[in-house]
Amino acid sequence: MKFLDITDTLFNGVQASSHIEFDHEKIFYCEDDISGLKSIIAIHSSKSGPAIGGCRFRQYQTYEEGLTDVLRLSRGMTEKNNAADIPFGGGKAIIFSDKPKSTELLVAFASFLNQLEGIYYSAEDMGISLEDIQLVGKHTPYVFDNVDPGSYTAKGIFYSIQVALKFYLQKDIKDSIISLQGAGSVGSELAKLLGDMGATIYVQDIDQVKLQQLSTENTHIVEDALTQECDLLSPCAVGGIFTESSIQNLGCKIIAGGANNQLLNPTIDSHLHKKGIRYIPDVLINSGGVIGLTKDILKRNDLQIEDDLKLIGKRALDSMSFAKANNMSVLEAIDGLLI
Ligand code: NAD
Repeated sequence: MKFLDITDTLFNGVQASSHIEFDHEKIFYCEDDISGLKSIIAIHSSKSGPAIGGCRFRQYQTYEEGLTDVLRLSRGMTEKNNAADIPFGGGKAIIFSDKPKSTELLVAFASFLNQLEGIYYSAEDMGISLEDIQLVGKHTPYVFDNVDPGSYTAKGIFYSIQVALKFYLQKDIKDSIISLQGAGSVGSELAKLLGDMGATIYVQDIDQVKLQQLSTENTHIVEDALTQECDLLSPCAVGGIFTESSIQNLGCKIIAGGANNQLLNPTIDSHLHKKGIRYIPDVLINSGGVIGLTKDILKRNDLQIEDDLKLIGKRALDSMSFAKANNMSVLEAIDGLLI
């Protein structure tokens, strides 16, 4: 097994510390010929405590694409953990899905975590299920595998959606039309919470099975959640969906969802603002998962957790109010506050 600190080393033609997204503490790489594991772990910040963040298993066209993703996601974890007000720093892992996910590969990932001796704790993310991370947890203490964070993330977003609809449109959830992209762990739970409150919901997913599993009333399946006419669009699938071209045909008045890094680049925020579409940044409202994951270690009971999740909505409302008072976008309003 190859284990490398690649922070300041030219590796696969790229030096991490010279990358445009780099403002990190450490970057590590691990490769295991037997299981096929190829993985990067980025430690963005350990100022508030050991870094935590999920592990993503996905296909990247190039090594650099994976590095860019892990650098952006790990910074987002610092912001998210600070938004959740928990004593942990930000980090993230990615596994290149060149080889299929197997027990051997997950055990090799556990060895990678052991090499880091607790400066980073991993959890699930896209392509890695709770069962996967529980398997990893049999071979390392450096995981959070106690809960599925998706339902906690959905709850924090739900409270934020509630305040956003009221603040911008003076609407209750029951009178609102909500368009959801992604019916996975976060999206399906969010659909249920919103549906139970009487919202009309439109959902898009590339996975038909996920759509069939939705049990919520008032739910309609659509081809394209982005262009669907609605009060609020909640992206809960992949990042980078808002581009100069995709925002031309949006059907929503507000955007508030869980997907990480929804804007292809920060300039999209000002385009959305000029169009009068209110974008609530993901880092501000998708931190419910880390609140759930760390509840046992921080000894928080269910009532305290519910209060913590409601605080996400409260902080989002404060940021919306500040942004409105200063005639700026919510992203501008929180600039620099969460790092
Ligand atoms: P998931 O893998 O359970 O679900 C993602 C869903 O999106 C899947 O059903 C998939 O089929 C669908 N999808 C993928 N590409 C799509 C596309 N182009 N169009 C429509 N649907 C598409 O993931 P999740 O845990 O629900 O997370 C969703 C997003 O929220 C991710 O960006 C993740 O990083 C982010 N997030 C998740 C959590 C969490 O607690 N799980 C916390 C914070 C942020």
